[in-house]
Amino acid sequence: MKHVLPIMLALALEGAEPDAAQLNHMASRFARAELKADTAGLSSGDQRALVKLIEAARVVNSIYLDQMWNGNHALLAKLRADTSPLGKARLRYFWLNKGPWSELDDHAAFLAGVPHKKLPGANFYPPDMTKAEFEAWASKEATGFFTVITRDGGGHLAAVPYSKAYAKDLALCATLLQEAAALTENATLKKFLTLRAAAFLSDDYYASDVAWMDLDAPLDVTIGPYETYTDELFGYKAAFEAYVNVRDDQETSKLQFFANHLQEIEDNLPIDPKHRNPKIGATAPIRVVNEVFAAGDGSHGVQTAAYNLPNDERVVQEKGSKRVMLKNVQEAKFHSTLEPIARRMLAPSEQADLSFDAFFTHILAHELTHGIGPQRITVAGRDTTPRQEIKELYSAIEEAKADVCGLFMLQHLYDRGQLPRGPDTERRLYTTFLASAFRTLRFGLKEAHGRGMALQFNYLMDKGAFATGPGGTFRVDSGKIKSAVRALAGELLTIEATGDYAGAKRLLEHYAVLRPEIQRAFDKLKDIPTDIEPVYVTAEAIAPAREKP
Ligand code: ZN
Repeated sequence: MKHVLPIMLALALEGAEPDAAQLNHMASRFARAELKADTAGLSSGDQRALVKLIEAARVVNSIYLDQMWNGNHALLAKLRADTSPLGKARLRYFWLNKGPWSELDDHAAFLAGVPHKKLPGANFYPPDMTKAEFEAWASKEATGFFTVITRDGGGHLAAVPYSKAYAKDLALCATLLQEAAALTENATLKKFLTLRAAAFLSDDYYASDVAWMDLDAPLDVTIGPYETYTDELFGYKAAFEAYVNVRDDQETSKLQFFANHLQEIEDNLPIDPKHRNPKIGATAPIRVVNEVFAAGDGSHGVQTAAYNLPNDERVVQEKGSKRVMLKNVQEAKFHSTLEPIARRMLAPSEQADLSFDAFFTHILAHELTHGIGPQRITVAGRDTTPRQEIKELYSAIEEAKADVCGLFMLQHLYDRGQLPRGPDTERRLYTTFLASAFRTLRFGLKEAHGRGMALQFNYLMDKGAFATGPGGTFRVDSGKIKSAVRALAGELLTIEATGDYAGAKRLLEHYAVLRPEIQRAFDKLKDIPTDIEPVYVTAEAIAPAREKP
């Protein structure tokens, strides 16, 4: 699953079809960003396999267009034929959204002659089908991930497996995956691609999901039907997506270094020692990669920066799940959104401390510290978990915990000389964290990350660890930040360790609120892009698309 952040920067669509200028304005909420990945280190077999995988991913775009709406392919052909400025603006915005509905505007249509909103069931169900009709009819097969519901000749509902519904595209995808499997020397990649090609034709994805968990290769690929967000009617149907990536060996070894120190961090967490876990469990695998190409459900609207898969419960129980972090996507977002935010929100003296390396290192630390702290707890003699006890408040508390424990972990490793630090390292870490707080807060306080960030921001302001600077800017007080982070980490960890729902509620009610300084910050950030529009320069150079976009 991936985090889908709600967006606050909606533009009202007034019913009339937007003109070229309006469409370009809507598209400008996505800053164009070139995505590059270094493929020179790949073996010659992998380089040739990469071409096949990019081609397979382009076929996934075709399947996803079909899944989104049954009019998409005809509409795309029409838009491609219109070379006027308006036609070009329409095509660009269509391609960004993979359909005629604007995701940032609550899926409102930006073209005439299409349903005024995206259909909740997309093209997974007949457009005239009601929920009640489906529920009265549905068999187990019909609620599965990998079938499309259609009407047969008699008008009755029928479940058609993906292998039949997308037969031509999936046969082509399977052939390309088999060709890539023959080219790569990596046994885990060969196995995944071979099994996934077979799954495209059999609709049985289990064995290939297991092989994906074992995939450990310089060329890293995720391709298939996965997430069910496009099916807003029932959330049953999996949309096709593809990510063709190259493993980032340097970041992967940094991650390994952190993983090797996790028990030590647990042993030093700022909580009552009786709550520390003497033997933490194995951590879920994390891969850091650079994205060469993404397609389908993996490339529309706000771009995916990390994903956790698979979703199949049987595979998760047996093999766990894996998190893939797209470093160059994070970097593109950093340059396009966080840098302009920092120019407005940080005091001039702090600007030079904004650092992508600090940003990404903290993201890695955040991910790993989800795995430490209280996991199994005892409340009034019952064996339970923080999630069960803190219920709907847990996500916000846990996200804030991972942020501050990530800072705590890095500080611990710097202080002990285990992680090298230069004269600016710590300042960069905290100042970059302060700037990134505004980026997260922009996504709103309804969502767990935004709520958890409001909690941290206001807490750290009240402790004097964040302070206001000239012209409504902010800065970090280096004399106060470390102890404040430690104190907040202690409070959050203790709430989790004791399953303290009332305590979580008190903390969130007091701190996770929209105070005037955050509101003023929002007002200053209105015109900053929400996200990026990826331009796949490496993929284009290696395997140029026959049709553009
Ligand atoms: Zn998290």
